[in-house]
Amino acid sequence: MARIQDRSGRSEAETASDIDLSVVVPVYNEQEVLLESYRRLSKVLSGMEERYELVFVDDGSRDATRAILRELATRDPNVRFIGFSRNFGHQAAITAGVDASAGKAVVIIDADLQDPPELIPRMVAKWKEGYEVVYGKRTKRKGETAFKKITAAVFYRFLRAMANQDIPVDAGDFRLLDRRICRILLENVNERCRYMRGLVSWMGFRQTFIEYEREERFAGVTKYPLKKMVRLAMDAITAFTMPLKIATWVGFSLSGLSFLYLLVNIYLKLFTNITWPGWTSLIVVSLFFNGVILIMLGLMGEYIARIIEEVKGRPLYLVAETGNMEERAFRDNGDLRRGDGRYPA
Ligand code: UDP
Ligand code: MG
Repeated sequence: MARIQDRSGRSEAETASDIDLSVVVPVYNEQEVLLESYRRLSKVLSGMEERYELVFVDDGSRDATRAILRELATRDPNVRFIGFSRNFGHQAAITAGVDASAGKAVVIIDADLQDPPELIPRMVAKWKEGYEVVYGKRTKRKGETAFKKITAAVFYRFLRAMANQDIPVDAGDFRLLDRRICRILLENVNERCRYMRGLVSWMGFRQTFIEYEREERFAGVTKYPLKKMVRLAMDAITAFTMPLKIATWVGFSLSGLSFLYLLVNIYLKLFTNITWPGWTSLIVVSLFFNGVILIMLGLMGEYIARIIEEVKGRPLYLVAETGNMEERAFRDNGDLRRGDGRYPA
């Protein structure tokens, strides 16, 4: 706790009295939707009794997103933003937003209005009942391709089987986190290959969910192409060691089977006249085993790559610019930052 105070230069009392609710919105090339989501979020939040702030995290957009955020921040004191130096990815953007927000509760929501802002009061109500985590569970996903729905459904269930942990299925990053959870994320969770949903469910505490139907994207296109989806899925899965154990068991089973096959062949050779015609069976067996070996090697490579990422210990993200963010803590360089969010010259 002391570390946060030192880095941000604000006292605990100040934090507590300042803001009740922070809403973190990661944005990447969202110029088509940004103003509309600002409008809908502000409408919902200003109708609530809690004092709020909107924390946008611009994940290195190349369109007008950054300019729109600058404009919003000068117009509306409740709007703050963090601008990354390049695209660091959705999970890094969420992390930065949670790191820098001050509310007693923090809601994470996508910018594209697929998760309706109107649900935030319901989440806050659950939080007031005493839950530390309130996640949104999708009962339906509108306007998404069959491919996305199927891969998502399979992925959530596969992950749940891999993790010895109760990871809720069909729940995205739309959720409310109590300050306590955010503090643990900032102070004690430093892993680079991060899958926030897995981390949060690993933490435990009192968690609950609200059900909702996922809307269509308001405008623009998905910022999660297949490549990013696969990377996120690999990060999530390699956070657990189960696949490595599966590799061991597959190895043992295949060796066992081969040994049986050997015994059968010795028997045939000694006691019968049957001989197996060669080529095809040889090639099939050889290809099969080489395939399995390469898959296992690749799997180990994925883990090693992640070990290297962790060992290098680089920052999770770099902040190039901020708006209305004076005296907030960032994970990347703490005290180095001047009030205007730029690095010292
Ligand atoms: N996003 C981001 N960085 C990225 C990709 C996406 O900050 O590299 C943001 C994006 O602006 C949006 C949210 O993450 O607010 C979810 O992205 P998107 O809606 O494109 O994903 P989908 O809903 O299609 O899975
Ligand atoms: Mg979306």
